[in-house]
Formats: sequence, structure tokens, C-alpha cells
Amino acid sequence: MRPTHWGGVGLGSDGIFRVDASALRAWMSCSTQAWLRYARGLTTKGEKAALLAGTAGHAALEAYFRSDGDAKAGRAAFDEVYKAWATQNVAGDDRLAHQNVSIIMRRWFEAHERKGGGKYANLPWTVVPEYVEVPFELELAEGIHLIGKIDLLPQYNNGFVVVETKTTGSINSWWTAQWKLAAQLTTYLWAARQCIQERVLGVFVNAIEFGKIPSDPSRRCKTHGKKYAECGELHAKWEVLGLYERPGRMIEEWHQEAVQAATKMRAVFEEADSIEDVQRLSQEGMFNGSCRGCEYAEGVCDLGRQPHMIEANLVEEWWNPLQA
Ligand SMILES: [Zn+2]
Repeated sequence: MRPTHWGGVGLGSDGIFRVDASALRAWMSCSTQAWLRYARGLTTKGEKAALLAGTAGHAALEAYFRSDGDAKAGRAAFDEVYKAWATQNVAGDDRLAHQNVSIIMRRWFEAHERKGGGKYANLPWTVVPEYVEVPFELELAEGIHLIGKIDLLPQYNNGFVVVETKTTGSINSWWTAQWKLAAQLTTYLWAARQCIQERVLGVFVNAIEFGKIPSDPSRRCKTHGKKYAECGELHAKWEVLGLYERPGRMIEEWHQEAVQAATKMRAVFEEADSIEDVQRLSQEGMFNGSCRGCEYAEGVCDLGRQPHMIEANLVEEWWNPLQA
């Protein structure tokens, strides 16, 4: 059941239809994917682990930047969101096991410790405490709002920048290539320029890899000349990507497309209002490649989207970026 007084993505109890960057992305990929996730609030257990680990990573950095660089506060915030759930629900040898991801977070904090020099070591921007986790809800079209939260709006060069933290299984060229033109970054830039009366230059992606830390007790690591069990945590990986800029024309075109997409999405969500309707929705993903990596490919679409199986195989987890 959807929470009452819903103000997250989807049709709100106030009659406003709300979308965020992830919902627009899903909608542009596949109607079935978008509808299951955002009209029905359904997800898989595996996806829930990735989602919650990501939320915990965001909470950790929020606490860290708000407390002026207190890594202990950051790590505590991470555990508060993730530890109890992951201990119960994630296998100990999984990349998203609590122990594994908390090592990565600790290493991230250690790498950005102040050592004499700048306030936050190895970060290109200057944090402004009141611009940490900036929520926005802006009118996209009549009755349709665009919602989201900007992780960080720090100073950079002669202006400000959006910093978007992303956790991913692997930071590789295939993953990073998406940010060059990603509508999500355009969304945040457009929103940021309305949230603060400052020059906002572009977007940095603050990427943290939640990959499995190697721990083989017998194999030798060539990089560190030790057994993997000894150097494992040195393999934790993160990277600041960008600055990604968006020319004015690209933002205007993004806006037009976002309005059209959200309008169509609202109409389809209103029309398909019971789980049996799932079989009438398009499956664009089968044509455009987005079934790769889609949480519903296995257990839903490959079984013919059978309503009773969908409800049995998926868990409810409504998406509200303002509360994530
Ligand atoms: Zn090594």
C-alpha cells in the first residue's frame, strides 16, 4: 500500500503528479519499468540493497559535510541507515555486505582527511555548510512537479557547482560515459539555478565504487606485492568526474522533452491503475537495450509479466527522493 499523504514520485494525494530525474530516466527507457517502480512502488530485494546502500552513502556524506568534515559522524550516519538491514538481508560475501561497504566508506573518509593543507583534502570544491542536501520541488508543467535533492552546492572557481554523489558496482569507462550528456545532471543544473541566486557552472559526479574488496588469502597482488587479504582495502576506489557543463540550448531542449515525457507518463499512470494493467504497457526496453541491468528483466518480464507472480516476487519500496 502506498503511504497516505504521498508527496514522492507518482500521483500525490494532493493531485499533483511528481517526477524526479530517475523516474524520467526509467520512463524514457521502458514504460513497464517506470510503471512498476513509480506507479506501484515495487522493487526486487537485490535492487533494494543497492538502493539502501546508496542512500546510506548519501547520508554519510551529508553528515560529513554538514559537520564540517567529521568522518566519525559520517560513518555513524552510514551505519544508522544500512547496518541493521544489511546484516539481516545481504550475504556476507556480497559486494554490498555491510562490512565490505563500510570499509570503502572508511577509506573514502581517510583519503579526504585534512592533513595540514586544505579543508577537505583532494576535493576540488569548497563546501558551503548551508548548501548541503538542497531539496527542490519546481513546477515542470501544470499539475506536474519536478522533485529532487542536490547533494552538494559548493563553491568552485568563480561560481558554484552541483555535486552529485553516485555509488556504483564499478567505476569504469562504460559507466562514466553516461554522464557526458545525462539528463539527470541537466535536471540538477536547471534546478540549482533556480534554488540559489548564484552562478552555477556545471556538475561534478562524486563517484564511489561499492565493489567487492579483494580478500584472497593465497593470491598475490602485483600492484602491492602482498597477498590480497593484506592489501585488499587499498583497492577501494572513488573518483571525481567532471566538470560537466550544459550549454543553454541543451537545457532548453531537455526541458521540452521532460515536460512531454512527464505529461505522457501521468496519463499512462492514471489510466493503468491496477496490477493487471501491467500487460498492456509497452516494453520499449526490449528494443532499446535497457533490459540489460533492469531489475524486472528476471522474474517479471521473462515470465510474461504475470500479475500474481509480480506481487509474489517483488517488495514494496516507494520512492521519494526528498526523503532518501
Ligand atoms: Zn593490492
